[in-house]
Amino acid sequence: MSTLVIDIVDLPRQVGSTKAVHLDLAAPEGLGTGVIGAAPGTPLVVDATLTSVDDGVLVRGGADAHVHAECVRCLRDIDEEHRVSFDELYYLPEAAAAQRAEGDEEADDVFLLGDTILDLEPALRDALVLDLPLRPLCREDCGGLCPHCGERLDDLPADHHHEVLDPRWSALAGLLDDTASGDVPDAAGGEELA
Ligand SMILES: [Zn+2]
Ligand SMILES: [Zn+2]
Repeated sequence: MSTLVIDIVDLPRQVGSTKAVHLDLAAPEGLGTGVIGAAPGTPLVVDATLTSVDDGVLVRGGADAHVHAECVRCLRDIDEEHRVSFDELYYLPEAAAAQRAEGDEEADDVFLLGDTILDLEPALRDALVLDLPLRPLCREDCGGLCPHCGERLDDLPADHHHEVLDPRWSALAGLLDDTASGDVPDAAGGEELA
């Protein structure tokens, strides 16, 4: 069972009843995508207010997470604190079933209350995934990696380059050298048209 499961036995079903929740725990696995998300085991602080409504429980709140990712260009580690807020309705199973019976296809995707519990994890995961960049960058204009040596361009001098040993360019360089030598004033002479 997830550590983000909240006991709601003490939240009256009467509409408008509220319960304040404060969680201070280690982030579980899976809060994010494979690329970016809350680093498992790092501090995660959640504050939320649960409110009973007709169809279930409204959950409003926020979380402070320690987010870890790798820059998609240079693979540098990115670690930062990230605040995310959420505002979700958790349905009573019977309310979701009633919606489904009415043909509402979205009823399959809603968050459900357990008998006496509410699992914050899916709401928090959705909020984080929506909030965090799909392609994290260590900085907006990260230069990425040098295609030749694989070093980070941001760590290398601005004039970093590699001698390009492409035979076509070598041949052209040779031609330019000949021309530049200037010792063949009559070079074009043999190509006069008749
Ligand atoms: Zn980067
Ligand atoms: Zn290089």
